[in-house]
Amino acid sequence: MKKKYLLTPGPTPLPPEVLLSQAQPIIHHRTPDFQEIFKEVCEGLKVIFQTANDCFVLTSSGTGAMEAAVVNLASKGDTVLTVQGGKFGERWAEIAKAYGINAEVIDVEWGQAVDPKEIEKKLKANPKIKAVFTTLCETSTGVTTDIQAIGKIAKGAQAALVVDAISGLGAIDMKTDAWGVDICVSGSQKGLMLPPGLAFMSVSKKAWGIIDGNKAAAYYFNLKAAKKALDKFDTAFTPAITLVIALKEALKIMRKDGLENIFTRHKRLAVATRTAMKALGLELLSVDAASDAVTAVRVPEGIDGEKLVKTMRDQYGVTIAGGQAQLKGKIFRIAHMGFIEELDIIAGICCLEKVLTQMGYKFELGAGVRAAEEVFLQGE
Ligand SMILES: *Cc1c(COP(=O)(O)O)cnc(C)c1O
Repeated sequence: MKKKYLLTPGPTPLPPEVLLSQAQPIIHHRTPDFQEIFKEVCEGLKVIFQTANDCFVLTSSGTGAMEAAVVNLASKGDTVLTVQGGKFGERWAEIAKAYGINAEVIDVEWGQAVDPKEIEKKLKANPKIKAVFTTLCETSTGVTTDIQAIGKIAKGAQAALVVDAISGLGAIDMKTDAWGVDICVSGSQKGLMLPPGLAFMSVSKKAWGIIDGNKAAAYYFNLKAAKKALDKFDTAFTPAITLVIALKEALKIMRKDGLENIFTRHKRLAVATRTAMKALGLELLSVDAASDAVTAVRVPEGIDGEKLVKTMRDQYGVTIAGGQAQLKGKIFRIAHMGFIEELDIIAGICCLEKVLTQMGYKFELGAGVRAAEEVFLQGE
């Protein structure tokens, strides 16, 4: 038996209250009991999304809400704009293509954030673009996008602004309404401290205007049907009842903590992690736009990145994430989102130091742990 530490950018660990809330007899979803819970979570989500608009709960992983956003806003032959600077940004164009929707793509170097002016240029050049698809926190590179700046641009355009905040929501600031975000998409297993299986999305009035004029091909992810049900605090299909109950518990914890405290906590964990990596002589993938939800670190010369991640997991029970696609073996990623706390990060850094030492990387043992502790002490 080995104690396990989950430090991946989804799934993330769960607070005991959230875990236990799921160990209850199943109730039926077309009942006043469930409606009351569903009403509470839909209202609670608005607080986390920082929106006055409806928030939908979908039974799928986060990608389901991404697909729902694409197919409800655009149809075959329409044009949309997508931004891709990593694996998840690429997903927007992949979904569009699967439905015969033309995706104009802004390619961003992995590890960098998009320059909002690029989006402005594209929107000016093609006023027919129905929606712009972006990513708040690009989990594959640990980069945060300046959604506020993009929102200012999108406000003056016809196009709806859609943000994938699957890993960002509940970890870093996401002012859906104030920043002019029309559809914000999230998922359960990252900052929201839930098991995988639920997706969430907010929909603005501007987005509804586009959705109403769209001949959507969706059936399961039809937002008009979802809205009709939501107006009665109901769902079009059987919801993941147990996960909705867990969501109620997670939202209770988050609302008690308060959004500002949650963001401050994530920032402190991120700063500690980044400082620790530098103290170990390691280089961050993102210099200017490093996310406070997950840190991507370059694997040092001569070290086998995949072996590093595997050894930490198999020998010591500490699961971090490796790199994806073109970054496979080149980076590792330490998550600091949701129910990941200071001592988890210390454990992760400690284990990283141990395995790096065993693999022959030269540095001052304890330098990373010390640097992180110093950051944490400043926050006391
Ligand atoms: C995890 C993640 C996704 C995919 O979510 P699934 O729940 O695996 O479908 C999409 N975008 C971002 C930014 C993510 O972090």
